[in-house]
Amino acid sequence: MDTNKIIDEVKIEEIIEAGKKVEARYIQDIIQKGKEAKGISLEEASALLQIEDASLLSELFQAASEVKNNIYGKRIVVFAPLYTSNECTNNCLYCGFKVSNKNLNRRTLNVDETIYEAQEIVNQGHKRILLVCGEDTRKTNIKHITESLKAIYDTTDIRRINVNAAPMSVEDFRLLKEAGIGTYQIFQETYHRETYKKMHPSGLKKNYDYRLLAINRAFEAGIDDIGIGTLLGLYDYRFDVLATLMHAQYLEAEFNVGPHTISVPRLRPVVNTVLEETPYNITDVEFKKIIAVYRLTLPYTGIILSTREPAELRDELFNLGVSQVSAGSKTNPGGYHFNDEEAEQFETSDGRSLNEVLQVICKQGHLPSFCTACYRANRTGEAFMELAKGAEIHEFCQSNAILTFKEHLLDYGNNELCKVGNELLENALEEILNDKIKKETIDKLKETEKGKRD
Ligand code: SAM
Ligand code: SF4
Repeated sequence: MDTNKIIDEVKIEEIIEAGKKVEARYIQDIIQKGKEAKGISLEEASALLQIEDASLLSELFQAASEVKNNIYGKRIVVFAPLYTSNECTNNCLYCGFKVSNKNLNRRTLNVDETIYEAQEIVNQGHKRILLVCGEDTRKTNIKHITESLKAIYDTTDIRRINVNAAPMSVEDFRLLKEAGIGTYQIFQETYHRETYKKMHPSGLKKNYDYRLLAINRAFEAGIDDIGIGTLLGLYDYRFDVLATLMHAQYLEAEFNVGPHTISVPRLRPVVNTVLEETPYNITDVEFKKIIAVYRLTLPYTGIILSTREPAELRDELFNLGVSQVSAGSKTNPGGYHFNDEEAEQFETSDGRSLNEVLQVICKQGHLPSFCTACYRANRTGEAFMELAKGAEIHEFCQSNAILTFKEHLLDYGNNELCKVGNELLENALEEILNDKIKKETIDKLKETEKGKRD
């Protein structure tokens, strides 16, 4: 398959140039259009990415926040990553796990160690895990990944496991599906072929096309819940953001389902490794702009924010269109029990605990959600998108968020969190307009208080 038809670099360059020429008064029209939550074109997204003017930027951020609230309500889903291995045979210049990093303490968790880590994540109150590992066909193959999934589901209270791992064959994706994967995440890192080649000098990851087509193979294997993204800072963000959107459009046209999520990893420093060529540093304002543009272009796609970003900026971003956040994260295998900097993938920035992050989310008036109901009811891919586009989802998700957050408060909340959390829950309950759903929620809340769990 000619992947130039999926990511057409010449076309992207043309769209960037066209975007530069759009006048300010048209930019306001595009922002208005974005607020209708029906999406905007790549040309329009390009124009928004070029905004420099402070007042237009604040209109853009406001619009993104409105669209987020209209579609997802005030809910923010929380999760934690679980790194099962830092062994890797690739040599991605930017990553601490690269094979040439001889200073890294290498480790692959066995099943018991994985359960031990997952249990610690559960002890913080999490219900969702993102399983992450390096690529080493002897150590982190499909057997390692599926055994880890099975062990976590069988022995802990984790209800959904998403996976961020190297691209695989259709047969392996089938096994991943059978093992009960939630979302399969894969970042193209950069869609710019020349930069990709430079950043991935050796190892299986060298192959741009094999990585780009991983999602096609996942769909073929029946996995329709997909997360994409680009590692911000490797190349011109305007190119990579537009290419990510182009990829999303392709998936929607080809498989009738766009990506379930887009992640926004931004390059972080790595212990003992220096990335020499980083001319594409992304400022905080540019980072906010990128999130807002994703939100307006793909209103129904979740946006995931990790602890790569500092606490203060994250707190601001909760208002800007982000719908899923990690909290209390470690990026080294075994990291929830052992603090080993020399085994980390990169330095995290927001080191607050889950409950500390939840407190901020609540104080801002957002509603933390530990819900995994859609996935368990098989509402994924196209079925999820259909539901997400209808009005009912709002009330339904609001109710689930209330119930799962109440569980968290009862089981894991400290005094401070319970104080702000319970107040928030009362308001959230009032916001449910459908009388039937409201009554059901009140009844279920009583059962939750008596000890019943989701
Ligand atoms: N090894 C698999 C792969 O590369 O697809 C699995 C995921 S890798 C451990 C997770 C992601 O971390 C990468 O896709 C990359 O975007 C991101 N990453 C790598 N180095 C990073 C750094 N220095 N700062 C921020 N994110 C980084
Ligand atoms: Fe390995 Fe993934 Fe890191 Fe590349 S980004 S070195 S493939 S863990």
